[in-house]
Amino acid sequence: MKKQRIAIIGGGDSGLAVAYNLLQQTTKFDCEIDIYEANEYLGGNADTALVDLGERKEPLSANTRSNESHLIRKADLGVDDLNMATYERIVRIMAEIGFTDYRPLEDTACFFTLNGSKVLTADGELQHGTSDPNIAVSDELASTYSKFIAAAATDIEDEEQKKKYKRYTVGQYVAQYMEHSNSKDIPMIEEMRDCLLYPRINAMYFADDVTGPAGMPLRAVMRYYIIQEGFKQDDQNPPKPKRNYFLNGAQAWIDTLAEYLLNKYPYRLKIIRNAQASIRVEKSQVSISVPPNQGMKGLPKPQSYDKVVMTCHADDAMRAIKHGMSQGLINVLDKVRYTNSIAVAHTFAGVLAPDRNAWRTYNVLIREGQAIHPYSMTYVMNRHRNDAAVWYETDAHGTPVMKTTGFNKAGMPQYFVTLNPCVPIPDEYVLKTPEGETRKPAGYFKEFKNNEEMLPGWRQLGGVEGKGQPVIGWFKHNVLNFDCLDAQEQLAKFQGGDYMNLYFAGGWTHGAGLHEECWDMAEKLVEVMTQHETSLQGKNLHSEQQETTC
Ligand SMILES: Cc1cc2nc3c(=O)[nH]c(=O)nc-3n(C[C@H](O)[C@H](O)[C@H](O)COP(=O)(O)OP(=O)(O)OC[C@H]3O[C@@H](n4cnc5c(N)ncnc54)[C@H](O)[C@@H]3O)c2cc1C
Repeated sequence: MKKQRIAIIGGGDSGLAVAYNLLQQTTKFDCEIDIYEANEYLGGNADTALVDLGERKEPLSANTRSNESHLIRKADLGVDDLNMATYERIVRIMAEIGFTDYRPLEDTACFFTLNGSKVLTADGELQHGTSDPNIAVSDELASTYSKFIAAAATDIEDEEQKKKYKRYTVGQYVAQYMEHSNSKDIPMIEEMRDCLLYPRINAMYFADDVTGPAGMPLRAVMRYYIIQEGFKQDDQNPPKPKRNYFLNGAQAWIDTLAEYLLNKYPYRLKIIRNAQASIRVEKSQVSISVPPNQGMKGLPKPQSYDKVVMTCHADDAMRAIKHGMSQGLINVLDKVRYTNSIAVAHTFAGVLAPDRNAWRTYNVLIREGQAIHPYSMTYVMNRHRNDAAVWYETDAHGTPVMKTTGFNKAGMPQYFVTLNPCVPIPDEYVLKTPEGETRKPAGYFKEFKNNEEMLPGWRQLGGVEGKGQPVIGWFKHNVLNFDCLDAQEQLAKFQGGDYMNLYFAGGWTHGAGLHEECWDMAEKLVEVMTQHETSLQGKNLHSEQQETTC
């Protein structure tokens, strides 16, 4: 069997997942892989930054006081959590590679209007502080929400109903649900829709900014609820989400995985960073080049391969592939629309509910109207990371044991990450990296002005003393609308391209693009590639036999 040379474009979660699955296929599909990543760092949407919280001592226990004068914390600006109850593949791979740096997060939420006219906290998993009955979601509202989500999740998963709900929007389902409900329950369902359901969908990274939540595909939104939030109808044993965060940031998981693969397959895997790949797909080969000043130093170029797997976004793939896509394939990729987004680490309370007792891990804005651009969400990092006062003490056997007092007792400065701030965050509230630690330039952020007049009375929670660069991330995500779902479905026909050498994986190709879905897609794709390879080998053998007979 001939060894294949395969290029993977994109060093995010999907690129590594495809590499992992391909490298295991030694019997049916022997290959060597080069991963091309445009950035210097791996991880794509897994973007972890160090933040400098200023001249504060680490609030450790008396006998382990840190000598550091600046308090340094981590902030994930993109991917930041995983549900260990449903991310089966990720859990398995993490165990295999010995990655244990994840911890349970405080899974709480606050739904609020900026002026404080409506504030609702969902405190099911509250670990720090006490729930205030004046603002907590009532049992009746919580149960209305869970029942609705469970009913919708069950319907979209039901084999007999699948066809019916395939083109249903969230709004259609809500209307149908109301029709079948008792009239006395309608006001509660309306409140659930306006204050919990629609704001939550609006705050998802794949929200449709044109149709708003009501116009989004029911099945796409519900799959997200099932995988990420653990909702499922199961009367016997309702699974609870086990939401965890990455102790050292999502990028630590990606880096650990990359290191594991490089160590395990030193002669079969290469990762080329800082390499923006251009691709030409021909019948006999795929050739890949990168601009001369980038990460191919020392390598002859362009490089040729037997196959290429694109794990970057659909629009990036269209830009990168210079030759060799059929019009049908272009039409599929063209269906996928993107929104550009910004993530900022900061200490500005103006993006949260005015009542600070209402701040929760996930803070979701209730806004007028249906179509919201762009989506917005704020994490209180101290709750999300749940590590404000973490330290380690050794037990009698010398094993380090993690201790924590809880964030609200630690005297720690609170800090936040906001995706697409709903109001401008003044420059001086933006957190910085530690001195000397570089991030991407903050050009886009300069568009936000320090506008105290617009934001009267909003408080600063702590000065920003870092001397490094503003902790800001830019990312984009595909909008999960019907066009995108259609593209995902139609893509199956085009896997392999015209010459069985051009393949696609990546977040946009499967569901909401959650981590687990990226791994699921990678697994499925490698099955397809293996089948193609087996059938190609069969054909070659057949023609060789025919030649011999002749
Ligand atoms: C804000 C946000 C939060 C999220 N949070 C979560 C979460 O908490 N949990 C979860 O499970 N999922 C989350 N997701 C979904 C997440 O995107 C996926 O889980 C996963 O990170 C997607 O990985 P990917 O490899 O498909 O894409 P990406 O991570 O985007 O990687 C694509 C890579 O391709 C590279 N690239 C592009 N063009 C080229 C080129 N020409 N040459 C070389 N390289 C190229 C890019 O630089 C990038 O590194 C979140 C997404 C967003 C946007």
